[in-house]
Amino acid sequence: MKAVVTGGAGFIGSHLVEELILQGAKVHVLDNLVSGQLKNVHPLAVIHTNDICSQEAKQIILREKPDVVFHLAAQADVGRSIREPGYDADVNINGTINILEACRDASVKKMIFASTSGVYGNLQKDLISEEDLTMPISYYGLSKLTAESYIRLFHQLYGLSYTILRYGNVYGPRQSAKGEGGVIAIFLDRIKKRMPFTIYGDGEQTRDFIFVKDVVRANIAAVEKGNQKTIQVSTARSTSVNQLVNMLTQISGFPIKAVYTHERPGDIKHSCLDNTKARQLLQWNPKIPIFNGLTETYAFSNMKDVR
Ligand code: NAD
Repeated sequence: MKAVVTGGAGFIGSHLVEELILQGAKVHVLDNLVSGQLKNVHPLAVIHTNDICSQEAKQIILREKPDVVFHLAAQADVGRSIREPGYDADVNINGTINILEACRDASVKKMIFASTSGVYGNLQKDLISEEDLTMPISYYGLSKLTAESYIRLFHQLYGLSYTILRYGNVYGPRQSAKGEGGVIAIFLDRIKKRMPFTIYGDGEQTRDFIFVKDVVRANIAAVEKGNQKTIQVSTARSTSVNQLVNMLTQISGFPIKAVYTHERPGDIKHSCLDNTKARQLLQWNPKIPIFNGLTETYAFSNMKDVR
């Protein structure tokens, strides 16, 4: 299989590239390195440092004619989307359209898209399903939702096959402290610096934290399965920020001080995603319990220190 991974120098994309190469795929990475890093990219992958909005990006897909395009490149910072909605839309909407046009023209067999639980906004539901109302409360959630609609229409108009994966909050090694779901990376950074955690709100906000390697397996399952479906990739379990602090205290052995401050605009209070569809359609299930995933992520962040 030949694959293009947009955003392959980023946190999730680089893990996906690694696994694809391990499975014998030829992999091309399309990433302008705005938040990704060259050192994240597997040496056997071919890297193209281009913007997904550019003609060059289109030409690369046209020339390489991959079987599959995993589209992960994005402006993935909720806060930045609030400050710079135009930039967010340029990357997440226009960039996606550019990649879709290239996929159509290169007769790519399938496009697999990284979407987000942010499309639902502040739904007051214990467990969200794919059929629930989408009411984003950040421009990031809105731009991802809009990109999803373009993907569905490209299928209707041109037959381009797709799977849309809506991830919960992804965490794991190599996550930067900046992007969406970066709370665990931020906390680990604080532990290293022996600094207190800043918690926005009362810490009782919950998220569905999913380990990056589980997300990678869902992407790979989507190559053959889940055609024309929108599927949540999640653990279907809620963890509060306060619980996270407790687990990290236990894992690191450091007493962690938490400083509570005001909530931020665009932040979602609770988010937990049903994963029945992923289990059925992708024959996938999450394998890594949060405590184990946090332990692996903590170990990696300490290893980075040693090097
Ligand atoms: P990341 O910032 O680490 O990765 C994004 C990558 O895209 C980076 O390598 C960046 O350099 C690249 N990129 C950004 N703009 C680009 C452009 N214009 N042209 C080319 N490359 C560009 O973020 P991540 O956490 O790995 O997220 C990957 C995908 O998963 C994103 O689409 C994000 O919206 C989605 N997602 C992430 C989470 C999460 O919890 N991390 C949750 C839901 C969805």
